Amino acid sequence: MAARLIDGKALAQTVRDRIAADTKDLQAKTGVRPGLATILVGEDPASALYVRSKQKACEAAGISIEDFKLSAATSQAELLTLVEKMNHDPNIHGILVQLPLPKQIDTKVILNAVDPLKDADGFHPYNLGKLVEGNPVFEACTPKGIIAMIDSTGVAIEGKRAVVVGRSNIVGKPVALMLLHRHATVTVCHSKTKDLPAVCREADILVVAIGKAKFVTADMVKDGAVVIDVGTNRLADGKFVGDVDFEPVSQRAGWISPVPGGVGPMTITMLLANTLESAKRTAVAKAT
Ligand code: NDP
Repeated sequence: MAARLIDGKALAQTVRDRIAADTKDLQAKTGVRPGLATILVGEDPASALYVRSKQKACEAAGISIEDFKLSAATSQAELLTLVEKMNHDPNIHGILVQLPLPKQIDTKVILNAVDPLKDADGFHPYNLGKLVEGNPVFEACTPKGIIAMIDSTGVAIEGKRAVVVGRSNIVGKPVALMLLHRHATVTVCHSKTKDLPAVCREADILVVAIGKAKFVTADMVKDGAVVIDVGTNRLADGKFVGDVDFEPVSQRAGWISPVPGGVGPMTITMLLANTLESAKRTAVAKAT
């Protein structure tokens, strides 16, 4: 039986419509308009495209944008000064520093400099710590989007065996923690995992985030599993594919997310959601 599609693009639109309505409502009731500062350093075309997509989505939802494009030669001190300025700007509720940063800049230093209460990407150690504690302020956008995609299937997370392939700080680890907090029994796999196919076959929910084209094949998937493909890989012929071999795996899985049109649009949507949540917190603080 062919799997049902988890249409990230359609789901993202539904959530964005709700965010747009909430943004309008917040502004009407409190005068607070959610604002996001986007900081791009250098001219990498892929990064520029990502930032533009995020800005367009924000603008469509009524979230204001402060757009900063800095030269590739920007020093760490200059970038820190800008981040500090945004930390203190009352009209800014979220700060996005597009990664990767040029070599002369220490990414950790910059991410740590972002006010944790404006960390719309959810990358600050404070926010990762709050997630570990089970009391998150900002959840990283990709993991948050993945959980929303699983929820959209109607498959309960509680009690399920979940396997996450990949252990990065921005995807694998946070999504594993979120699944754990939702009472899944979670296994995290990585490049040193022994017999990865056997571990994957145990998964009722399989999340793959490794960056290797079509790595997960049908024999690695349990019948009826929910499969979320986070990977983005460009093939030699220019085709854009995920970490999951989509066609054969969709003959075995119960639900599957495509690439493109899966996790990508949901990641952007969660940036909007985080900026709105931050603006709501500001409005509450202003009122008390
Ligand atoms: P990283 O490169 O930071 O991490 C990759 C992880 O995959 C590592 O933990 C690594 O293991 C593991 N890994 C690599 N090869 C294997 C293997 N053969 N078997 C098992 N595990 C393996 O990647 P990210 O988490 O940042 O991103 C992963 C993918 O997701 C990329 O394709 C990226 O482009 C995509 N992505 C997509 C997003 C979206 O919005 N659509 C957002 C973020 C990422 P080890 O730790 O042992 O090295």
